Amino acid sequence: QGRGHEKIDYVFKVVVIGDSAVGKTQILSRFAKNEFCFDSKSTIGVEFQTRTVTINSKVIKAQIWDTAGQERYRAVTSAYYRGALGAMLVYDITKRQTFDHVARWVEELRAHADNTIVITLIGNKADLVDLRVVPTEDAVEFAEDQGLFFFETSALRGDNVEAAFFNLLEEIYNVVS
Ligand code: GDP
Repeated sequence: QGRGHEKIDYVFKVVVIGDSAVGKTQILSRFAKNEFCFDSKSTIGVEFQTRTVTINSKVIKAQIWDTAGQERYRAVTSAYYRGALGAMLVYDITKRQTFDHVARWVEELRAHADNTIVITLIGNKADLVDLRVVPTEDAVEFAEDQGLFFFETSALRGDNVEAAFFNLLEEIYNVVS
């Protein structure tokens, strides 16, 4: 399907990962529906949402998967990563531990996902400026070191969410085309 009779050129599977409560679900609903839901949560079980966009005159359906709470139980399985062309790896700029765990999530991706997967590191909750504990430079350095793209976002305000997804989808397009 798609919008009306529009032809889909590509379907790109993207997974969203990272510690609990960093804002994965909100980032996804911001991108897929342009919504922020103040009382979300969340059935257990993998779910995805889609949004169809045009990049380089190609109609691309992004199928974006949410762990839907499974990361709490370390139950993100290889089925979740299967076929994924991109990953949004999210931490919370106000919680140091969520950034410290990013290396572990990268290892998890390298172990379970395709080795051509495009990874974007996301520092979310950038609206909470007074509560920031993870300096931007630390994340920039880590991202450069690991070959990841990097954005700071606010799912609450919508800042940079669109830019981060479009960048990821463009980079995936460059890999597959
Ligand atoms: P998940 O467990 O990673 O899917 O995280 P959620 O999307 O459920 O978000 C966890 C909590 O952080 C919720 O209370 C959200 O309302 C809040 N949250 C998510 N994104 C943002 C953001 O960009 N800014 C702020 N201030 N709060 C956010």
